[in-house]
Amino acid sequence: MKYVYFFGAGKADGTGDMRDVLGGKGAGLAEMTRIGLPVPAGFTITTETCDYYLKHSHKYPKELRAAVAKNVAKLEKLTKKKLGGADDPLLVSVRSGSARSMPGMMETILNLGLNEKSVNGLAKATGNERFAWDAYRRLVQMYSSVVIGLPKEELEHRLRALKTKLHIKDDTQVPAEGWRELVGEYKAYFKEKTGKDFPEDPIEQLWGAIGAVFESWMGEKAVTYRRVEKITGLLGTAVNVVQMVFGNTGDDSGTGVCFTRDPSTGEKVFFGDFLLNAQGEDVVAGIRTPLHLTELKKLMPRVYQQLERVREKLERHYRDMQDMEFTVERGKLYMLQTRTGKRSPSAAFRMAVDMTNEKLIKVEEALERIKSEDVERLFYPVLDPKLARSELASRKLAEGINAVPGAAVGKAVFTAEEAEAWALKGEKVILVRRETSPEDVGGMYVAQGILTATGGKTSHAAVVARGWGKCCIVGAEKIDIDARGKKLTVGGKTISEGEWITLDGGDGSVYTGQIDLIRPEPPKAYETLLKWADKIRKINVRTNADTPRDARVAREMGAEGIGLCRTEHMFFKDFEHPEKSIERQDAIQEMIIADTPEARRAALAKLLPFQRRDFIGIFEAMDGLPVTIRMIDPPLHEFVPHERAKQEELARKIGIPVETVARRVEQLHEANPMLGHRGCRLAITYPEIQEMQVRAIVEAAMDCQKRGIKVLPEIMIPLTLDKREMQILGALTRRVAGEILAQAKVKLEYLVGTMIELPRAALLAGEIAEVAEFFSFGTNDLTQTTMGLSRDDAGRFLPEYVDQSKAAILRDDPFQTLDTAGVGLLIKWAIASGRKSRPKLKIGICGEHGGDAESVKFCSAVGMNYVSASPFRVPIARLAAAQAVIESKKQPKHKN
Ligand code: PEP
Ligand code: MG
Repeated sequence: MKYVYFFGAGKADGTGDMRDVLGGKGAGLAEMTRIGLPVPAGFTITTETCDYYLKHSHKYPKELRAAVAKNVAKLEKLTKKKLGGADDPLLVSVRSGSARSMPGMMETILNLGLNEKSVNGLAKATGNERFAWDAYRRLVQMYSSVVIGLPKEELEHRLRALKTKLHIKDDTQVPAEGWRELVGEYKAYFKEKTGKDFPEDPIEQLWGAIGAVFESWMGEKAVTYRRVEKITGLLGTAVNVVQMVFGNTGDDSGTGVCFTRDPSTGEKVFFGDFLLNAQGEDVVAGIRTPLHLTELKKLMPRVYQQLERVREKLERHYRDMQDMEFTVERGKLYMLQTRTGKRSPSAAFRMAVDMTNEKLIKVEEALERIKSEDVERLFYPVLDPKLARSELASRKLAEGINAVPGAAVGKAVFTAEEAEAWALKGEKVILVRRETSPEDVGGMYVAQGILTATGGKTSHAAVVARGWGKCCIVGAEKIDIDARGKKLTVGGKTISEGEWITLDGGDGSVYTGQIDLIRPEPPKAYETLLKWADKIRKINVRTNADTPRDARVAREMGAEGIGLCRTEHMFFKDFEHPEKSIERQDAIQEMIIADTPEARRAALAKLLPFQRRDFIGIFEAMDGLPVTIRMIDPPLHEFVPHERAKQEELARKIGIPVETVARRVEQLHEANPMLGHRGCRLAITYPEIQEMQVRAIVEAAMDCQKRGIKVLPEIMIPLTLDKREMQILGALTRRVAGEILAQAKVKLEYLVGTMIELPRAALLAGEIAEVAEFFSFGTNDLTQTTMGLSRDDAGRFLPEYVDQSKAAILRDDPFQTLDTAGVGLLIKWAIASGRKSRPKLKIGICGEHGGDAESVKFCSAVGMNYVSASPFRVPIARLAAAQAVIESKKQPKHKN
């Protein structure tokens, strides 16, 4: 097996598509070398080596030593320098890089190869003794903490003490002699702690660094990051050993990070940050606030022009926006990294559409590039524009750099641990830090938004938050943060832990208090892309909506009908006039308490007008589109009061003894209500409930039809377990509807069908389809009953089931993403046997899975007619349905 891949002087062993083996950074370096870009030479030790190392009690494969030695020799030959040589030495950096970008989560060691001899060689070659000793002390400092694990604080403390002694503030003022002294102190500390001398031998240094990088793959911050980002299935990290180039040799040097397009807006402009006379880590760490690229254009026009050419070449080559790192050493440009850049959701849409129009990519590719999270995050909130400007101005606390758009409201917390602890209690928090570091990811993840006092748009906070589409403001320099005292001060104002603040990531403003947020208008590119998706997809997308308002929103989102209207929600709440909800609640409770069919009918008569009005609203909103209305579903005990006081009140209202109410509530108690008297079992026992609901639907439909509104009702029976149930309830429906229509001499087209929510119904779907005109898979219940996992309680242990570093029994939460292996098998069987009995059987899905991209792809592949998703997930489903078609074209023999 090949463990090491070389690159340099226009040639590379590896290629850009070997990300799995070389990691993103290694693959990028190889590819950039191949296409003739200025890349320092080096070699990459593969992720497979890391995998071997971790699986073999932290030992290297036996061929590795020789392979590394061979590649070091090759590098020395190419650069005509000797690693750690006495004059003009070769120095290398050792960096991690896995197949998926994990910014700052793993280790890096710079300036390897320096020792007591080569430091003088470097000083002589550069004519800069101060620079050479600074480089050496950085190596000793980094090596001691990263490779050996000595506490960073101890080392930094010595640096601070040195500066105090020399009466200086900045590192840049430390003279050569000072750095030399510090190196001595660091080494003494090293010896005291390890009992050994700091390694002089460059090869020994190199192996120490390689081991540290491999170890960092399993470091706590990297493991946390992979967990929150759901990164699984990787072998480990690669190690990149690359010739050092220095951005900190003077004012003709520097280092920067740039993007081929603006990662926040998607606009085709060159975008980036640059620091003069600095090393790469300084930009990413966000310690110094960098300059904009336009400054580079002024300061080093030739380098800037060359970088512009690199930008064009890389984007054309990779056919996507690139995020690049570069260093300028004494006026010469070096590219150190390129990778597909993270982008905000609206930028993702804009770039996909622009690149299609520029003929860089095809429509299919544009559609495939959008992830469901991009769609979700597009609708992230912004400040309510109705808020008066004067009010806004009076609340302004500070300003920073608008790193990631969107807005966020939360209580200020000052450490990542606090953020996690508060979020666990259900609090919304804003994480406020001087700068963030990889240790903070857990807290950043749970925060509504992130605010830092330092850093630019490419700082750690910005990069990580952008990946999540999370509102982030950086570089709010006027803010003074006291993390220990749990407060911040700015312009004479103090915000303590737990006080509300609001961030506007759109313009970088920070406000005191809670400001109302609204959902924004999507960008133009969103409309374009979704239209492309609609042209390609084969499956319809409906929505789950119980109110006219939700129905209208869903229609704007592109819903092509309602796939599930849960009528029982209407018993609880008057959505148009919430203050009148009590009238409905009284009527339903009276109906449940009643002990004769007559008394029930009388109570139901009171409910009828409410339901009819609700249905009219929904039919109006869905004019011309099908509306599936489900008959009552939950067990009746959910509707009645369980506390004595409320029971007394109900008894008073109905005019019966409280004992009668209490007894009825007691009767309704069930040991396992989810498997109890619910769904269509209720209508078998109390047919008058369904009679009322059918009447409300038919009368509402007639009312709308008369006014020229096109109604297509689909009456749906829930939780059916047998053909006979469906037969009885189907006949009841047709009888009631028939009588009403005959009396009014009106014609109305409607369907009567069933949900498939139980394994038995799925297995006997062939029989059921003989009497049902459509099927809708209720996959919430079907998952619950197939897997024997309670949809309400499984959350307590499921996280461990899906955690890839723990039990890893399931890949995804089956209540979010359909269990295609188990539940999916029942679905496929039900579809096949249902359509055998009734070839034109209309089939959809209305469980939560209808809004989950992976599940939608399954539904499309197995030949459903539609999926139904909650209103804001409708666009996700539209896109996923198109992606399903594109994917199936790539694999013509898609196995269902
Ligand atoms: C289902 O079970 O999937 C369903 C849509 O019904 P509910 O969630 O109301 O039980
Ligand atoms: Mg259900």
